[in-house]
Amino acid sequence: VATCTFAQARRVVVEQVRAARYLESELVQLEAAAGRVLAESAAADRDYPPVDRSVRDGYAVRAADLPGDLPVAGEVRAGQAARMKLEAGQAIEIMTGAPIPPGADAVVMVEHTVRQGFSVRVDRTAESGQFINPRGSEAKCGETLLAAGQRLDFAQIALLATIGKTQVRVFRRPVVSILSTGDEVVDIHETPQPHQVRNSNARSLAVQVQRAGGMPRILPVAHDDEDSTRWLIEKGLHADLLLLSGGVSAGKYDIVEKVLGDFGADFYFDRVLIQPGQPLVFGRIDRTFFFGLPGNPASTMVTFEIFARAAVQLLHGEADPVLPFTLAKLTAPFRHKTGLTRFLPAQVSNGTPELTPIPWQGSSDVAALARANAFLVADAERESWEAGDLMQVLLK
Ligand code: AMP
Ligand code: MG
Repeated sequence: VATCTFAQARRVVVEQVRAARYLESELVQLEAAAGRVLAESAAADRDYPPVDRSVRDGYAVRAADLPGDLPVAGEVRAGQAARMKLEAGQAIEIMTGAPIPPGADAVVMVEHTVRQGFSVRVDRTAESGQFINPRGSEAKCGETLLAAGQRLDFAQIALLATIGKTQVRVFRRPVVSILSTGDEVVDIHETPQPHQVRNSNARSLAVQVQRAGGMPRILPVAHDDEDSTRWLIEKGLHADLLLLSGGVSAGKYDIVEKVLGDFGADFYFDRVLIQPGQPLVFGRIDRTFFFGLPGNPASTMVTFEIFARAAVQLLHGEADPVLPFTLAKLTAPFRHKTGLTRFLPAQVSNGTPELTPIPWQGSSDVAALARANAFLVADAERESWEAGDLMQVLLK
């Protein structure tokens, strides 16, 4: 059908899914909203802060009165309204978070004062406005603070709590079918013969789908024959996205693409210049998008992370999914054959950060993948990197 580079394939996935996704929303309690995607915008219900507020424990003063020895006219605590007015030449003791008394225009930190009975001595000058968080400086009443399409994590939940949203409208989670194929693949409850493998892909994909915000539905394993594959694909199409693993390479029994074609699928690409995961298929049947992910565990994991994850996030209503790329310093030289963008298991250390490739036996080496906390990303156009060079990393 079509061969794409990594960047082209990524663009195709994002554009196709964004253009054809079908979003529905529901109302949930704030307690249940973490990890969901906002389907409405959220606005400030009042000014934030609602009054001028102190950011320090200390004394509210008029800057013009400093330095000086000022009588302490009273106290405002956090949780008290500021009733008392500050007169010229006075100080009012104030706590962090308390409203600034009218008449004051600065706060002096308690550490910069000497209290002497009913008065306080301040030896330094103060700038007007210092340590005051003015009313409305964080947000104005009615201002939009979160837009639809924003995924809700702890900070966004805190913001919704701040503005008094006890319920929030979020998008429905997309349902994602997971269909493993392969005559050699057995359920994890079975004891595999030497020529068989346990179905690890269904498990890794289910976790990846869930992390991305989708609801995984694992189907039985399809045999490498058309009837079995057709029957299970048909079941898998009752979903927003169908993920198939295996059966998309050039082998005699790799029939997934053919069976998808029999359903009248639109194919957007069926080969991407990456490794692992080159024979990757992406398309759509009616309203259901699908990926045919190559069956080797590393291929399945990598192609999900770099392509299918964005599809799940978009189907979940996220406005703009990003890949968590960063740069890290290589601890050893790295060479590869140009032409393919490679995603290889690696360890990123804390600090600088430093990047170390993990030795592995290739795409079936799940043990190496489990030792990795990242994938190093070897650009398709560059052949070699020296120790100490910065290299791109995809964080897991
Ligand atoms: P395929 O993409 O169908 O050619 O599969 C490539 C290899 O991936 C197979 O030889 C299996 O060893 C492995 N494999 C395929 N499906 C799975 C699966 N569901 N779980 C674990 N390994 C698999
Ligand atoms: Mg197979």
